[in-house]
Amino acid sequence: MSMDRIVILGGGVGGTLTANLLARRLGARIAAGGVDVTLIDAQGAHVYQPGFMYIAMGGEREERLARPERSLLDAPVSLIVDRAVRVDVAARTVVLEGGAIIPYDYLVLATGSRITPDEIPFFAQEAHHFYSAKAALELRHALDAFSGGRVVVGIASMPYKCPPAPLEVAFLIEAELRERGLRDRSEVHFCSPIGRAFTIETVSDMATPILEEKGIELHTFFNVEAIDPERKVVTSLEGEELGYDDILIRNDALTMDVRNAMLEETNRLFSDVLEGGNDFAGVAGYEAGKGWDAATGLGSANAARLVRALLR
Ligand SMILES: Cc1cc2nc3c(=O)[nH]c(=O)nc-3n(C[C@H](O)[C@H](O)[C@H](O)COP(=O)(O)OP(=O)(O)OC[C@H]3O[C@@H](n4cnc5c(N)ncnc54)[C@H](O)[C@@H]3O)c2cc1C
Repeated sequence: MSMDRIVILGGGVGGTLTANLLARRLGARIAAGGVDVTLIDAQGAHVYQPGFMYIAMGGEREERLARPERSLLDAPVSLIVDRAVRVDVAARTVVLEGGAIIPYDYLVLATGSRITPDEIPFFAQEAHHFYSAKAALELRHALDAFSGGRVVVGIASMPYKCPPAPLEVAFLIEAELRERGLRDRSEVHFCSPIGRAFTIETVSDMATPILEEKGIELHTFFNVEAIDPERKVVTSLEGEELGYDDILIRNDALTMDVRNAMLEETNRLFSDVLEGGNDFAGVAGYEAGKGWDAATGLGSANAARLVRALLR
């Protein structure tokens, strides 16, 4: 009997759930030796990223946010801890940093997104974010040292992870400043890249009066583009300027390692693949094909087709 080899790259939320759901749905076939589900993760640890925000706002520690990936995977799922450095779609293999070559019949790419704060010059010296445990801790230290002034919470580019997080952080900072007796000496500004406080209209309608009540100034159509460290000014794509004493910008333009589908409509998301800057895939530019192959990214249009194929 031939065996279908399903390989999942990435042990984050997407990869872990996919592996476990497949293992449960395909349990009988796995037990009979007809299917193998293998997950490959670079770290071997699953990190709960929403917790980063609470490192920044106090009360959370990095070590509490990671769990061994093995402890989250169902028993039938095999785990390989190594970094994938290349996918060879023609040969249907994944090459690992340690040298192993893993063959697949179906490949699920769930390697997540990466943050790109360096795309804004002077970000590192002037701004903070909370999209990694380290950055969140640095933000915590900056808040501890803050003794009053102007705080700007901005969004640098779309799409980004967890749409409400910047708004939540603006509210949390405002509350903290009140608790610490610094509110009278401080201004809090929230810059939204669109024409209202939040993408979902009902949430925006709820949040806007609260922003007003808390005295948080809302700047709509403010896509953070540049930071001028001399003048302590942040400039938006739309041409508006805003001064700051301390600044928080989030910028995690999504660069998923996805090899097909959606490319025609949303190729900005995948520009690193299309333009050949994708060191993970190890290809000189992905040739955006309209067809179906067995490698797909979670969230891509092909994901549904992959699921149908796997669960046939
Ligand atoms: C501050 C913050 C707050 C958030 N709040 C929420 C929330 O309230 N609700 C919500 O639903 N979501 C929230 N999110 C978003 C959520 O965490 C992400 O959507 C989710 O983690 C994405 O899962 P993923 O599986 O796509 O990628 P990740 O969880 O990023 O996992 C990717 C995995 O792939 C592995 N990997 C990467 N490259 C390779 C490689 N080359 N080889 C092998 N393995 C590799 C990594 O080690 C990692 O384990 C938040 C995120 C942040 C940062």
